[in-house]
Amino acid sequence: MKAIQIRSAGGPEALELVDLPIPQPEAGQVLIRIEATGVNFIEICFRKGVYKASFPMIPGSEAAGTVEELGPGVNRFKAGDAVVSMSVIGSYAEYALVPAAQLVKIPEGLSLEHAAAAMLQGMTAHYLAFSTYPLKKGDTALVHAGAGGVGLLLTQIAAHIGARVITTVSTKAKAELSREAGASDVILYTEQDFETEVKRLTGGKGVDVVYDSVGKTTFEGSLNCLHPRGMMALFGASSGPVPPFDPIQLNSKGSLFLTRPTLWHYIATRAELEWRAGDVLGWAAKGELKLRTEHTYPLAEAAQAQIDIEERKTTGKVLLVP
Ligand code: NDP
Repeated sequence: MKAIQIRSAGGPEALELVDLPIPQPEAGQVLIRIEATGVNFIEICFRKGVYKASFPMIPGSEAAGTVEELGPGVNRFKAGDAVVSMSVIGSYAEYALVPAAQLVKIPEGLSLEHAAAAMLQGMTAHYLAFSTYPLKKGDTALVHAGAGGVGLLLTQIAAHIGARVITTVSTKAKAELSREAGASDVILYTEQDFETEVKRLTGGKGVDVVYDSVGKTTFEGSLNCLHPRGMMALFGASSGPVPPFDPIQLNSKGSLFLTRPTLWHYIATRAELEWRAGDVLGWAAKGELKLRTEHTYPLAEAAQAQIDIEERKTTGKVLLVP
């Protein structure tokens, strides 16, 4: 099978197209034939060595495809089922193994590409909006990188709940997409000071919650956008990691809450995985959650896909197709 392999940490050139044997499923595993792979920011962190990985590795954890072969003890699925997971063992490939416990069936009416586009970023938006800070009608949320993969989905879900969503984006074209997703106010944080803008837009009050995936360049300002006892959900580091931080700042800025959540802890049980995946895939199948998949690349161009994400050229979901 064709696969992308990384032999050692490095730049985009570390992503090499190679021929490898198709893996064989062990107990509790399913072999899937991949039709669409989701590219996620975290894979850039692994490739660069920012997050530790053991090499050689096939990157990627998100894919949709069809069941090819079942390992011993798997009876939830059958050959040919359309399935999706964000726990694929090396999804930048034509075939990959997935623990059956982490695989879900794709509902009728949803394409494999859209399933791959919805799964990881959709469940992230889901846990942020329903569990990390459960949004209520009338709340005001600040969502950074509002035209990104998570950003567009989180904005739609938050707006649907009835929250007022203020977003930040880097370009006017991205601002347009963010508004279409339901943002009531969009700040060009490359041109305007977002903290000043948020204060102006909220009449000096501040927001109930900040969903911050940008990290280093936004963290401090994000804390300043919250009203007393507001919630800072720092869930990413697209601009780099946040430097060491003294918790006394949470006190002086208004008894704030700070959390650094990760999706894994919000899909820790099969019931929680099925709840979040069922909602997200179901909404996508009914067209209630709009997915943007303009950035689709052949598997062999995985490096270009990662370059475009790093250079902030993409919006919505980035996919690879074998
Ligand atoms: P995006 O599609 O949102 O891409 C990242 C965006 O961040 C860019 O498009 C860009 O938007 C913005 N950005 C701001 N500063 C920079 C910078 N210096 N370099 C690159 N991008 C920058 O990615 P995803 O939706 O896939 O993920 C968003 C973040 O959330 C990532 O950091 C990811 O690791 C994290 N994440 C965390 C999860 C969790 O459970 N904790 C789960 C899923 C994702 P703009 O040009 O508008 O500024």
